[in-house]
Amino acid sequence: MREPLKTLRHVPRRGNARRARLPRMKREFAPERLNVPGFTAAAATLEAADPVPDYERLVAELAIPAPDALVRWVAHGEERPGADGKATPWLHLEAEAVVPLVCQRCLSPVDSLLSVDRWFRFVADEATAEAQDEESEEDLLVVSRDFDLHALIEDELLMEIPVMPAHDVCPTPVQLSSSDEDFKAAEEAKPNPFAVLGALRSRKPEEGK
Ligand SMILES: [Zn+2]
Repeated sequence: MREPLKTLRHVPRRGNARRARLPRMKREFAPERLNVPGFTAAAATLEAADPVPDYERLVAELAIPAPDALVRWVAHGEERPGADGKATPWLHLEAEAVVPLVCQRCLSPVDSLLSVDRWFRFVADEATAEAQDEESEEDLLVVSRDFDLHALIEDELLMEIPVMPAHDVCPTPVQLSSSDEDFKAAEEAKPNPFAVLGALRSRKPEEGK
């Protein structure tokens, strides 16, 4: 390997000396301790694709582990004039994940899309949030310089979990057969598959045991 051309690398860029004292233009924002006023004033955007296992409360709701599933999210900050004319911090959050939930018909995993698209307005404190909550269409959050965006994403995904996750069409419920012999007998009888589904739907889980 040849040495890099040091002479070229060290050629000073034009205007370098003058630029050196300017404030840093690029700010870094951390999702776990987000400087909300800074983020919204800069109209900044953060986005990531996090492994689902990073979201412990979400993992607790899953039918089976989902080590390869991702939470894709993008958060955008902006300032809007408030009722008092002062700049108010707003946050737009979009998040998406496909996770295996428990199908409430056949109790096996069903891949379910959780999708979040929501606006938040930040207020000074809890009291203000409570006072304005009723009349606000957007969700209210308390402004902070170390806001946990990760926790907000998880809260919102948890709220998107359907009350009754279910397959459009459940897979053949082989696992309900108590033995191979029962399974063979069921196969020989060849019942109408739709009749089988109907019977399963009307049966309560306790009776299946
Ligand atoms: Zn199912």
